[in-house]
Parts: sequence; C-alpha cells; structure tokens
Amino acid sequence: MKILVINCGSSSLKYQVFDMSDESVLAKGLVEKIGLPGSFLKHRRGDEDNIIVERNMPNHEVAIGLVIGTLLDEKQGVVKSMDEILAVGHRVVHAGERYASSVLINDDVMQALRQCIELAPLHNPPNIMGIEVCEKLMPNAKHVAVFDTAFHQTMPQTAYLYALPLELYKKHGIRRYGFHGTSHRYVSERAAHMLGRAVSEVKVITCHLGNGASVAAIDGGKSIDTSMGFTPLEGLMMGTRSGDLDPAVVPFLMEKESMNSEQISSFLNKKCGVMGISEVSSDFRVVEGAAAKGNEQAQLALHMYYYRVRKYVGAYAAALGSVDAIVFTAGLGENSPEVREEVCKHLGFMGVELDLAKNRVRGKEVDLSSENAKVKVLLIPTNEELIIARDTKGLVDSH
Ligand code: ADP
Repeated sequence: MKILVINCGSSSLKYQVFDMSDESVLAKGLVEKIGLPGSFLKHRRGDEDNIIVERNMPNHEVAIGLVIGTLLDEKQGVVKSMDEILAVGHRVVHAGERYASSVLINDDVMQALRQCIELAPLHNPPNIMGIEVCEKLMPNAKHVAVFDTAFHQTMPQTAYLYALPLELYKKHGIRRYGFHGTSHRYVSERAAHMLGRAVSEVKVITCHLGNGASVAAIDGGKSIDTSMGFTPLEGLMMGTRSGDLDPAVVPFLMEKESMNSEQISSFLNKKCGVMGISEVSSDFRVVEGAAAKGNEQAQLALHMYYYRVRKYVGAYAAALGSVDAIVFTAGLGENSPEVREEVCKHLGFMGVELDLAKNRVRGKEVDLSSENAKVKVLLIPTNEELIIARDTKGLVDSH
C-alpha cells in the first residue's frame, strides 16, 4: 500500500510518499512560499538528488497540484496513476477534546475540525484547506487526520486544568492540550524498544526541541503531562516564543507598549524566546556561533534555554515518580551536543550520567549514557511522518 503524508502550513507544505510494505520512503519534498513571490517545490525521489521547481503558486490548490504532477512525472515520479495511492494521512494540529486518536475523515470530522479553529487559528485553517484540496484532487483515496493534540488526551485533570474557575473550562474549553503528540509518541515507543522493554512498562521524559519545543512525561506509553498548554506558547523558552510567563505581564505590557490582543499574541509568539534575549537569531546554529565568539546576550539566551528544559525534566521526574530514560529529539535535540550536555548537567542526583564522548553525535538513534547510569539518556531522531503513515494504514486496513 502506498500512502501520501501531507503536512500543510499557511505558506508551506511538506509531503512524503511511503511504501507501507516495508515502510520505505519513495519520495519526499516541500513547497515553500505558497501565495508569496518566489514559491518553489523541492522534491527528492528515494536517495536521489533534490530537484527544485520554481513556479508561481498563488494558493494551496496549485501547490498540491504541482506535488501530484511531480509524483506522476515520468522522470521524478513514483506512481503511474494517483489511484496507486490508496490513502492520504494529514497532520492536523488541534482536535480539542474531540479525538484521542487518528480518524478517517468524513463530514462530521471536518465539522469538528472547523469547530477547533478558534483553539488554533493559525494552524487548523491551513490543515483543513490541505484536506479539502486533497479530497478534491484525489477523490478515490481515503483521507485520515492525525492530530498533534491526540496523544496528550490521556493527561489527568490535575495536569490539564488551569486554576481558573472550572466554569470557564466547561464554557470555553480553556485547558492545557499539549502539542507535538505524534513526535512524543514515536520517540517514547522507540525508547522502550531501545531499553528492550514493553512500552507499558517504561517511564520516559521526552524533550522535543525544535523551533517549537515541548517536554512530555510519559508513563507506560501514556502522556501524563506536557509543557505546552492551551496553545503552543506555554512551557519552554523557544526560538521566538516566550514560554512560561506570569500572566500579569500581559496586561502590563499591553498598557505600557500600547498593544492590542492580536499584537501581544503575535509579540509573544514571534519576537521573544531565544530571539528576544539574544537579539541575534532564533536559529540555534547562529546563536551558538555568536555565543562561542563571546556574545553575552547569546550566551544568556542559551543558558536560560538549558535551564528551562532542565527544570521541566526535574518537574516531570517528580510527576512520574521514577524515570527510565530522558529522550532528546527534533532539530536541536538531535543536532546539538551542547544542549544535551547542559540539560543533563546537575541531574546526577537522579541517576543521569551522560557519556560526553558518546554525546558528540548528531541525528542517530543512540544511547548516550554511561554504562552504569540509572537513567538512560537517548538520542532518537523523530519521525512524525512515519506515525502518520502507520495510523493511516491502520485505519484503512480496519475499514
Ligand atoms: P520545526 O520542525 O519546529 O520547525 P526543527 O525540529 O526542524 O523545527 O528544528 C529547527 C531548529 O533546530 C533550528 O532552528 C535550529 O535552531 C536547530 N538546529 C538544527 N540543526 C542544528 C545544529 N546542527 N546545531 C544546532 N541547532 C540546530
């Protein structure tokens, strides 16, 4: 069975085609700057070189049309007819409390996703648009939605409620939802595999550190807490997001800097975090470079970042009661030995012992802890697309 996985953002689109007989990736690519000048498609078949197609793509329908055209292309393509692709798995950010697992898309599901727009006004609309366009262009395929929030639906009320009047939770759905669920789920399953134990038996803390970043506490395969909340703004300091903040800062800033609600929300999401403190960049490669050259603001930003991750790891160790492994994943977690070293520093009291020589590695599934460490430190490259493809296949097989 061939499956197309689509992750549709507001101006970008990522895709992968899987052959599920062996879970191999037949092709992958991305479209950037949809609706903007300079839009292009980058496509790679198997292990071949990337090709770039520059094309004016005023909307997602044209962009997905170009992806389909490329997948059918005699030279670059991987299928002769789109009917070979039995199903499409769509990444959808927010399902509110409606779905705790992936679902086959029908009219009811689409209606539920539209209702969740107010919870994720930046993310759900392009996700929904991607589904609508794919359903139109691939009417014979089955379509499946895989949600970022679903995995965290197992959080207990004690973890997901804010201490606001309970009535507001019931009235507006104000609670912590959590995000990056597919990634936390994938790496926690791999962690159990690496530990040689059943998922149901292990307690792990997973650190997804990318542009957006979150930590999760996972007990026996179930998320019991995670650092992102009502929106992806809560929790860790991120590339451009503030993370945790005294809520009293918000009205104070709005008054002092004459910002309205839209402006403050955009400010906290786009101008803060590592970017705001370093005033260098939101990209860790650039910030680490500046810090190494002695830029003190860049050094401060990095140390604040490490400290917050470490603090969450400590909190989740307490939430879990004991920990078998700490997992690092996503852009930064996979590629920055410094982050892993600095987060694990001072965690010796709970049995963490990072092997500094083993830690000098990037992007490989590997145990980084010293032999006798009580708590393992694991580097596990995430693979959200594979989880989406597997869930899609599972749902198609069972219907
Ligand atoms: P997202 O999927 O959230 O957009 P990624 O998981 O791709 O983000 O992570 C992107 C971030 O990872 C970059 O902003 C960069 O800070 C960091 N990163 C990627 N490669 C490296 C590296 N070699 N060294 C340090 N940081 C890196």
